[in-house]
Amino acid sequence: MKGSQEISKSISRTILLNPGPGTTSQTVKAAMIVEDTCPRESHFGDLMKDIGKGLLGIGKGTYTHEVAIFVASGTGAMEATLVSAIRPGQKVLIVTNGAYGLRMASICEAYGIDYSTIFTYGQYPDPKVVREKIRSGSFTHLAMIHHETSTGMMNPLEELSDVAKSENVRLIVDAMSSFGAYPIDLSETHIDYLFSSSNKCIQGMAGLSFVLFHKDRLDELKANSRATYFDVYKQWSGLLTTGQLRFTPPVQVCHAFLVAIQETLGETVEGRWARYQANWRILYEGFKALGFGFFLPEDQQSKILLAINLDSKPDFQFEQFHDYMHDQGITVYPGVIPEINTFRVAVIGDLDINDMHFVVEQSQKFFN
Ligand SMILES: *Cc1c(COP(=O)(O)O)cnc(C)c1O
Repeated sequence: MKGSQEISKSISRTILLNPGPGTTSQTVKAAMIVEDTCPRESHFGDLMKDIGKGLLGIGKGTYTHEVAIFVASGTGAMEATLVSAIRPGQKVLIVTNGAYGLRMASICEAYGIDYSTIFTYGQYPDPKVVREKIRSGSFTHLAMIHHETSTGMMNPLEELSDVAKSENVRLIVDAMSSFGAYPIDLSETHIDYLFSSSNKCIQGMAGLSFVLFHKDRLDELKANSRATYFDVYKQWSGLLTTGQLRFTPPVQVCHAFLVAIQETLGETVEGRWARYQANWRILYEGFKALGFGFFLPEDQQSKILLAINLDSKPDFQFEQFHDYMHDQGITVYPGVIPEINTFRVAVIGDLDINDMHFVVEQSQKFFN
């Protein structure tokens, strides 16, 4: 029997300072309440195509790039890109100056993809050093994290893209925790593959990730195609030719993702970048005034995430601080840097300067 019924529910807002899934707007949350639909119907395929167009719009890659959308967290897109872009006999140089660079290395290890690593936790990836390393070996690809979410370092995307271009290697970029907030122009920057997910700077729900790839790479993606689920070519051509995703999508999460993309385009990436930087600045100044030091020097900071060093505060108990803040509706996040005691706060999400001032006030209360 057909019918309709009001569903209304009041949902409180929390301040998530973990680096995604972030605080979403109430409109993104509400977009998930939709009638039950079969994702094999054509209107759902149209929704997925609109998501793809929106993502290319965010990256300014409408005329240069294509997109493959996966039902997976961000690591799924990472795995899909590596296995789809690099064929047996080729070799990738991976910038491993944090946990996520190391994750790419572990995926290559699992698939038997030939790779070398360069740099260690927190080291700045000097483009000159990368160039020399590429010249010293038979590399076909360079893979890097744009924003290393484990340390808060913004790696030099534009410079490393110039290196990849002039050394004639393909560039693979993990822009998981920058895409949507940091202005990236795919039509101007030499980027062969870029991947990210629904739940970081685009401010949607978790569950989807995507790969933007240069149109000139289509032939090699087709020739390389060897994976079943995580195959960029098969996923791209599947949606194009059948109007459906190959495997069951999370219908409600897709609806929310389109709204989150529209909100990103509405705010503009430049506008979002200004908001994130202003929010980050308040946290930076606030924690500095409380006597904390930071893992990175200021000029290497992403302005998206702050890794706070605990050595400067020997009596500080992170667990207690976490629980106190959680009671105020604020979630702070532990660190992952080996042998260095840190915790992290990120500004990824639908947050504004009032939220940041509230965080600083509550932190002050904890210490008083
Ligand atoms: C979040 C993140 C990932 C992927 O993490 P998932 O938990 O799989 O979504 C990969 N790289 C970076 C840089 C990230 O910040």
